[in-house]
Amino acid sequence: MENQKGIIIAIDGHSSCGKSTMAKALAKRIGYTYIDTGAMYRAVTYYCISQNLIRNGRIDTESLQKKLPGLNISFITSEDGNQRTCLNSTDIEDQIRSMEVSAMVSPIAALPFVRSELVEKQRAMGNSKCIVMDGRDIGTTVFPNAELKIFVTASAEVRATRRYLEMKEKGGKIAYQDILDNVKERDRIDSTREVSPLRKADDAIILDNGNMTRDEQNGWLYKEYLKALERNGQ
Ligand code: C5P
Repeated sequence: MENQKGIIIAIDGHSSCGKSTMAKALAKRIGYTYIDTGAMYRAVTYYCISQNLIRNGRIDTESLQKKLPGLNISFITSEDGNQRTCLNSTDIEDQIRSMEVSAMVSPIAALPFVRSELVEKQRAMGNSKCIVMDGRDIGTTVFPNAELKIFVTASAEVRATRRYLEMKEKGGKIAYQDILDNVKERDRIDSTREVSPLRKADDAIILDNGNMTRDEQNGWLYKEYLKALERNGQ
């Protein structure tokens, strides 16, 4: 619409708390672009694994730093309407959701040169507003002036259970305890890293969705979006 400039919606929070599900649903409802920044860090991690840049848990940062600017991370929409992540035009969506990638993504995401490269790409994506972006540092670092900031959380057990059921549904064989350990470990690394640690922006609205259904959270987020538009005279 001519007189609608659009806003930037930043959704941050802990691992596996349903950020992307609600961000995607809102973007679809209001016709905005959805960007999953976690998928971008996962794509870099997958690249490192596939190129043998991680040996015995040690990252070959020198090689990664050289190769990173040449990596092309993009998103495509599949026939069923889902967003899929591509690396240099190859669809790697399934690979980046593996436990192997989940286990290494937080150390990779803590590397300052990885963050600066990806943050720059994310800012470029948000240039035209009308964007819903989810991650860990969107409201604090990527878009500190975002018109709507949400910080989502729930207990580690609730989040691990959701992830366990999701993976089981997809046919994955993974122990609940391994998922719980991974969720807790990623939270720990994400919250304690030096560059852009996971924290709530001062002006973010907290959503604890531990006891909410998907429909309830989607409805809640949509109302916050309407309020943000009103606050911004749109
Ligand atoms: O959102 P998701 O769980 O897929 O993100 C995977 C990992 O990527 C997180 O655990 C975190 O280490 C990293 N990440 C980040 N900053 C973001 C998004 C994700 O550090 N903006």
